[in-house]
Amino acid sequence: KAKEAGKDKFVIFDFPLNDIFVERMNIGKQLYTAMEQNEFELFYQPQVDLTQNKVIGLEALLRWNSPELGVVSPLKFIKVAEDSHLIIPLGAWVVRTACAYLKGLHDQGFEHLMMSVNISMLQLLQTDFNEMIMNTLNDCGLEPQYLELEITESVLVESYDHVIVKLNELREQDIKIALDDFGTGYSSLSYLTHLPISTLKIDKSFIDSISTGTNQAALVEQIIMIGKRMNMCVIAEGVEQSVQLTYLQEQGCDRIQGYLYSRPQSALATEQLLTQWENTGIGIPIEEDLRT
Ligand code: C2E
Ligand code: MG
Ligand code: MG
Ligand code: MG
Repeated sequence: KAKEAGKDKFVIFDFPLNDIFVERMNIGKQLYTAMEQNEFELFYQPQVDLTQNKVIGLEALLRWNSPELGVVSPLKFIKVAEDSHLIIPLGAWVVRTACAYLKGLHDQGFEHLMMSVNISMLQLLQTDFNEMIMNTLNDCGLEPQYLELEITESVLVESYDHVIVKLNELREQDIKIALDDFGTGYSSLSYLTHLPISTLKIDKSFIDSISTGTNQAALVEQIIMIGKRMNMCVIAEGVEQSVQLTYLQEQGCDRIQGYLYSRPQSALATEQLLTQWENTGIGIPIEEDLRT
């Protein structure tokens, strides 16, 4: 085969370049300038409390408006930002921006709202992580009880003892800790007894299964039960259909987050939505399949 292609001077490059690899290289190169050029933006998605039927908090979700690539999903660039350690300054920017935004909302009269921020393992492993969080809250004039940090199980696998000390410290300061994407990792159940978890977020994949009526739906009931027994707040993520909402309500799930209520939106659009809901009530969403 090599002989056949002998005349082709590009033959040594003739291997299938992994598209993902190329994409990551491109993204990696541009992330640093993106920070300098303020190309990052936070979107916010409401979390609805089912017993009160009102917005209890927002999750901050990172967006990158790249002039070259358009709007890039965090699923595409968070990993790259972690590999290059850019996630440290970027993650700090996320916390600061989200807290400042929340403070603004509190001042506008939405004083009960909480803010959930996604935290990477690499951030949590920084020696000054807790200090960064406390300083940010202090600078923003925000009480710690309004901040929730979302971590995933991958955080725990890596450096368990170290992380547990930090999380306990944060929890003692009244900062909330949520376990994100719950049910998708390994040995999740033992973590629950050792960690200062205040909130369980049931992963979307389980919520999807509710409407298909598979056995997985039974797991949702168990997760809700376990969470409640352990005095945690249970939140379902990725709720798109009212049949899922009804089911979760029946099972005693505390909170809902998903397209059914609202997609993540810009700071301005979020403010408008909050004001609108304040005036008209959230209401029961219209039956709709938003998965298309
Ligand atoms: P996550 O923290 O589990 O966030 C939930 C994801 O589900 C978000 O995707 C959200 O837009 C999406 N979502 C919410 N409701 C629905 C729904 O009803 N249907 C569907 N199909 N999707 C829904 P997004 O914004 O693309 O973020 C993806 C992931 O990127 C997040 O998953 C989180 O792990 C990570 N991420 C986002 N922002 C940050 C950040 O500031 N820092 C870090 N370290 N990671 C972040
Ligand atoms: Mg999250
Ligand atoms: Mg999640
Ligand atoms: Mg996720």
